[in-house]
Amino acid sequence: MKVPISECAMIDLDAPVLPAYEAVVKGVKRWMVWCKHCKPWHRHGAVDGHREAHRDNQSSPYWTTGYNLVYAGEWKPEAT
Ligand SMILES: [Zn+2]
Repeated sequence: MKVPISECAMIDLDAPVLPAYEAVVKGVKRWMVWCKHCKPWHRHGAVDGHREAHRDNQSSPYWTTGYNLVYAGEWKPEAT
């Protein structure tokens, strides 16, 4: 079930929630999300809410549900 959280964002209650870490890439804020299914960092706009898993391969469970992003702090790549 999809629930709006602002005028331009929503969350999907059927989708998993993933922590997003904020990074500045070329002067633009990005949220980095570690995907345990396909292993790269996925990069998204810095906004809470649901994302389609457009970069995932189709064996990932995120492919059908997408996921919800929740801000989890600054991105520290060396900590991964
Ligand atoms: Zn993925």
